[in-house]
Amino acid sequence: METIDRVAGMSRAAGIFRREGRTIGLVPTMGSLHAGHLELVRVARARADIVVVSVFVNPTQFAPGEDYETYPRDPERDAGLAAGAGADVFFLPSVAEMFPDGFGTWVDVDGITGVLEGKSRPGHFRGVATVVIKLFNIARPHFAVFGQKDAQQVAVIRRAAGELNTGVEIVVVPTVREPDGLALSSRNAYLDAGERRRATALRRSLDAARDLVASGERDPAKITGAMARVISGSGPAAIDYISLADPDTLEELTALRPGAVVLASLAVRIGRTRLIDNELLTVD
Ligand code: AMP
Repeated sequence: METIDRVAGMSRAAGIFRREGRTIGLVPTMGSLHAGHLELVRVARARADIVVVSVFVNPTQFAPGEDYETYPRDPERDAGLAAGAGADVFFLPSVAEMFPDGFGTWVDVDGITGVLEGKSRPGHFRGVATVVIKLFNIARPHFAVFGQKDAQQVAVIRRAAGELNTGVEIVVVPTVREPDGLALSSRNAYLDAGERRRATALRRSLDAARDLVASGERDPAKITGAMARVISGSGPAAIDYISLADPDTLEELTALRPGAVVLASLAVRIGRTRLIDNELLTVD
């Protein structure tokens, strides 16, 4: 595996790979790699000639007061894990090169960025979409791999990649979980033992939603109400949102129609840690 830390070096390498007719798969991450990220790398490995894993803690997607400064960083460990999962290139650009002083070109995706995560984290998806399009232009992938864990991010990237004619295929990988159902996340490291136990409530609330839909419940308010009761029954936790929405438009649903695929999602603060999770439910 080759480590590249300069934008020009990555562009040059991508140009060579392209001229050689090799397929490039990109896995964008913020590092602190866990088994969820590594599953994305393995999916990329299975279908690309060249797998590029980028690690960039993107300051533009953190709102003021969020955890940009304290976000866990360990590039040496990440490089070993990425290599072990089959990465060919480990791309580690600097903030100074990605967002130099005076940077002023942004990717704003209308509509779907104002709800759910976007409502709680103003500017978040502008930062995400901008850095992902920059990474596409630098690494020139044929496809890029993202996790279902960040369902709204998938919707935003799909829109931006399509509407800006990047030609990059967006590949989505199911959420990787701990044995007790907690979705793997770099932020799980912030949880103390009691919080870690309570954090399983997110998965359990999604199970409750799935069971209710399977048993014929079609009233979104009753389903989100049941999800909220699972969270509040688990101990101190602040619900940011609980949502049943269309997975593409992210519009809240007022009824569940037969055959529909519904994105059940939630964000909950446990202690000082904000956790998200989601599941796609099919209405039979
Ligand atoms: P992050 O480093 O948190 O920005 O995540 C980088 C990529 O890994 C994103 O596409 C995430 O959706 C994905 N990801 C994070 N956690 C998981 C997980 N538990 N399962 C699958 N993909 C994940």
